[in-house]
Amino acid sequence: MALLINADCTSCHICVPECPNEAISVGPEIYLIDPNLCTECVGFHNTPQCAAVCPVDSCVTDPERPETEAELFAKAKSIHPENSFSGDLVSHHRSKK
Ligand code: SF4
Repeated sequence: MALLINADCTSCHICVPECPNEAISVGPEIYLIDPNLCTECVGFHNTPQCAAVCPVDSCVTDPERPETEAELFAKAKSIHPENSFSGDLVSHHRSKK
């Protein structure tokens, strides 16, 4: 699942530089995550980095966008064709689901 940013967002900007896919942008009211770019950080980190730093826990998984870990990893590879992703899929823990 891609993550989304809910209405609790205070537009503090702390999440933006943490995203390995540049998926987070400034929306008309609050920040937005492009679901086509969000991989839940699969391929880069063990946990979603935006959610890890958000002070108000506004970065949450989007139940409307179910994706397997393999699909998320394939998305990461398509976003970063220059990256060989040496080694296996970075283990992703779904502990918050
Ligand atoms: Fe970016 Fe990771 Fe947050 Fe998705 S979960 S928006 S890839 S930081």
